[in-house]
Amino acid sequence: MRLILLGPPGAGKGTQAQRLVEKHGVPQLSTGDMLRAAVAAGTEVGKRAKAVMDAGELVSDEIVNAIVAERIGQSDCANGFILDGYPRTLAQADAVEAMLSERDLKLDATIELVVDDAALVGRIEKRAQEAIAAGQTPRKDDNADVFDERLREYYKKTAALIGYYHAKGSLLRVDGMKTIDEVTAEIEQVLASL
Ligand code: AMP
Repeated sequence: MRLILLGPPGAGKGTQAQRLVEKHGVPQLSTGDMLRAAVAAGTEVGKRAKAVMDAGELVSDEIVNAIVAERIGQSDCANGFILDGYPRTLAQADAVEAMLSERDLKLDATIELVVDDAALVGRIEKRAQEAIAAGQTPRKDDNADVFDERLREYYKKTAALIGYYHAKGSLLRVDGMKTIDEVTAEIEQVLASL
């Protein structure tokens, strides 16, 4: 199974990706997690990405495309993967197409988590509070100020992908405002209809 999860920051992509991993046994490829790991490890990519991420802007297509191209070539991706937070630009969407067609593979679907923007900043703030309560350091970009920029980036660069995948006939839309379990159930329902 090869899926893309699409939606603004705070839509629940990461949470639902983890559910899909459990159920379908394919890895979650979160470019956000990969970039945060690169920042934490102090790699060259991490150094280039850090300030951009802290500002809530998008890291360059060149960097993220290279990370994903390397990752999907690994053996645990042979039976599929859940792309979480990638692609985020039309250039990245084209890059996915190229990476897959090189391997004679196709995407099964793109699932858009449809959410109400007004609820998103509250979700992000809750995520930061939960991290603190669990003794973790919250993400530097999980606060109201940076969130505004992340949402702007989503509308400037990512929202166009809804039309892109809709035109290809591969877009499935799910109501992301329901409870986590209900969203999971709805995703499984749309996947079963493929
Ligand atoms: P996320 O964990 O998906 O919310 O991503 C956190 C941050 O990592 C984003 O705000 C961007 O700065 C960067 N990032 C993650 N995925 C991408 C991507 N596909 N393209 C560009 N930047 C990304």
